[in-house]
Formats: sequence, structure tokens, C-alpha cells
Amino acid sequence: ADSRKYTGLVEDCCCDYETMDSVNEEVLHPLLQDLVKTPFFRYFKVKLWCDCPFWPDDGMCRLRDCSVCECPENEIPETFKKPLNRGLSFENMVCKEEKPESIVDRSLDTKAFRGWIEIDNPWTNDDETDNSEMTYVNLQLNPERFTGYTGAPAHRIWDAIYTENCPKYPSGEFCQEKKVLYKLISGLHSSISIHIAAEYLLDEANNLWGQNLEIVNDRVLKYPDRVKNLYFTFLFVLRAVTKAADYLEQAEYDTGNPSEDLKTESLMKQLLYNPKLRAACPLPFDEAKLWQGESGPELKQQIQKQFRNISALMDCIGCEKCRLWGKLQVLGLGTALKILFSVDGENHVNLPLQLQRNEVIALVNLLNRLSESVEFVHEMEPTVEKTMEGQ
Ligand code: FAD
Repeated sequence: ADSRKYTGLVEDCCCDYETMDSVNEEVLHPLLQDLVKTPFFRYFKVKLWCDCPFWPDDGMCRLRDCSVCECPENEIPETFKKPLNRGLSFENMVCKEEKPESIVDRSLDTKAFRGWIEIDNPWTNDDETDNSEMTYVNLQLNPERFTGYTGAPAHRIWDAIYTENCPKYPSGEFCQEKKVLYKLISGLHSSISIHIAAEYLLDEANNLWGQNLEIVNDRVLKYPDRVKNLYFTFLFVLRAVTKAADYLEQAEYDTGNPSEDLKTESLMKQLLYNPKLRAACPLPFDEAKLWQGESGPELKQQIQKQFRNISALMDCIGCEKCRLWGKLQVLGLGTALKILFSVDGENHVNLPLQLQRNEVIALVNLLNRLSESVEFVHEMEPTVEKTMEGQ
């Protein structure tokens, strides 16, 4: 008999738990672990010192494990420092009337990727085109883990996220779009809790770090919905990555280090066109089912506004490292939403996809975090259950 706790299709998705566990273990997790270590994916641009628009500073910044080390100037890839095309639009790229035909680069017509752009993401609050206070952080040196950020300040953020911006959908109401936002946030919350538990400060005096199974049980595993939402968020983000496959395959992963950059390109291809993944789970999530009703466009605007509010709340996180990962993962989710429901704020659909380098870095790092969490749940659930039974 199958002793698995989670079987069948992930709710509102098109693939089942068993398949996702095995594809993640065999293919996605190892690939993503290598990808996030490459120079292209390990440097994230972020505005860390921001004023909370909702309430005054809570003074949590002084916690030792909360601090983030920013990159020294010479570590940042040269290619990242060059100015980009600001708000590059289609008009800028195609034939201008006065120019002779021969100057027009026709190869662009068939290209999905037309260079990295700087254009604001309509799903997030930060203005991504404003580089003035942005710094680069080496994510490998600043892992998401226990920081000591807890109690009322942390609860205030989660409360604001859930109660003001994505209330748990009333039972009986069947509005999949509203459910999606709640499930994405809850899935991300589960993943954050799992990372805290997976790397916990067990003994402060001796600086001993390790797994805290009680925390993972109390915060996530005890609640089947939270586990299900984690798988949902994983599949949602995976769908966004595979939907943008043509764009992401053609994208430039140039950091000025040819051998490393070739490796990044190769790993990306393996992720985007993975035969095992495509055979096992060709459509991780079916976004075409959403926004179909009469109120579709209105609903999309409403949900976009709520998500932007959630993204603004990241500036209220008093712990710098939590803020770093909160911002990265919310930008990653915002990028997935942008890919799946491509709108430009005024609801123009079918615009060619244009992404920022930083959005892609956030998207892939988020997918990796979710993949790690899914792997952790799959591997640890039986052990945690046994340990908790014995107590
Ligand atoms: P919390 O995790 O604070 O949860 C608050 C309430 O939300 C719970 O009581 C429950 O009612 C509900 N809830 C919990 N999980 C879910 C779920 N999956 N779905 C739906 N509802 C749920 N701390 C760190 O140590 N390291 C970090 O990197 C870090 N990053 C953070 C990033 C963000 C964006 C935020 C807001 C906080 C972060 N924190 C981090 C703090 C951390 O998330 C917890 O708030 C803190 O550890 C206290 O946990 P708790 O058990 O009291 O419950």
C-alpha cells in the first residue's frame, strides 16, 4: 500500500505529487542547485534601505544574523554595470521609415529575446528602473535561514499580507483567481518556514546550526493545506519558467567569464527543455483557465493591486536578510505572474515578453528555493512524523 500522505493531482494543477517529487529529485533540484551558483544567478540587485510606507521602523535591524553583506565593487560582473536600454520598446527596434531597408535587422523579427531591458514590473511596488539606491548582493554568501526575526514585528507583516491583501477565500466561493493569490503567498510562507527550520541556530553559545524538525512540523507539516500550497506555488512558478522557455533560451547570460557563462547557458537549456519534465508534467499549471469570466479584466487589476501592496510590505521587514529574500521571492512571483498573465498595467495582452535581468535572477532563485522546500518535505516528512510520534 502507498503510505504517501499526498497523492493525486496538486489542487488546480495538472501534475500529481508523486511525479513532481520524482522529477524534482532527479532533474530539477540538481539542475537548479548548479544554476544558482553560477555568476549570472548569484548576484541580485536590490534596494535594501527603504522606508516602510505603513509604520515606523521596528528596530529589529540590529540582530546579528539579520545583516547582509553587500558585494565589493570588483566582484560585480562588468556586464551588470553597463547601462541598459531604458524602457526599450518595440518601436525602437523595428524599421524606422527614413532608414534604408538594409539597416533593419530582420533576425529580430523571429527573436523572442531582444536584449535585457529596464522596464518597471506592474506586479511589484519597487521601481525597477531606479538604480540609485540599488546594491548587489551575493546570494551564496547570504543564505535564507533562521535569523531571529520573530514575534510581533514579523507577525505584523504576515497579518497585513493575509488580512488586507489576500484574505483566505471564503469557503464555498468559487473564484479561482482569488484562491490563486492566497495559495501563492501561503506556499511561499511554507517555503520560508522550511528554510528557517532547515538551517536553524540550535545553540547560540556554540554557534551550532542544524535542522529543527519540531519547527518544520509545527509551522508546515501539521497543516496539509500549507504543504499543498507549497506544491501549488512550485508548479505555478515552474509553468512560468517553461512558458518563457524560448525567451529564456535566447537570453544573454554574459558575465564576462566565458566558461562559466557557457555552463549557465547549458544548464538553462537543460532546465527549459528537459525531456523528463516535459514528458512527466507538460503543463504544470493551466493559466488559460483564469480571467475568463465577464469580470476577468477587473479582477486582474484588483489582484495586481493586492500583489503590489504585498510587495510594498517587504520594505517593512525589519531584518535585512529576511527583507532581501522577501524582496527576491516576491519579485520572482511577480515575474511569474507577469509571464503568465502578461499585461502592461493597462491590460494589453499579447505584448511580446520583455524581462529584466534581475527579474530572471529572482525567478530562477525562487524556483530553486521552492524546489529545495519540496525536496525537504518529501524527504523529511516520514522522519518528522516518527520523531513527533515518539515524543
Ligand atoms: P509565522 O511564520 O510568523 O506565521 C504567522 C501566522 O501565519 C501563523 O500563526 C499562521 O496563522 C499563519 N501561517 C503560517 N504559515 C502559513 C502558511 N504557510 N500558509 C498560511 N498561513 C500560514 N525569519 C527568519 O528567521 N529568516 C528569514 O529568512 C525570514 N524571512 C521572512 C520573510 C518575510 C517576507 C517575512 C514576513 C518574515 C520572515 N521571517 C524570517 C520571519 C518568519 O517568517 C516568522 O514570522 C517567524 O519565524 C515567526 O514564526 P511563527 O511560528 O511565529 O509564525
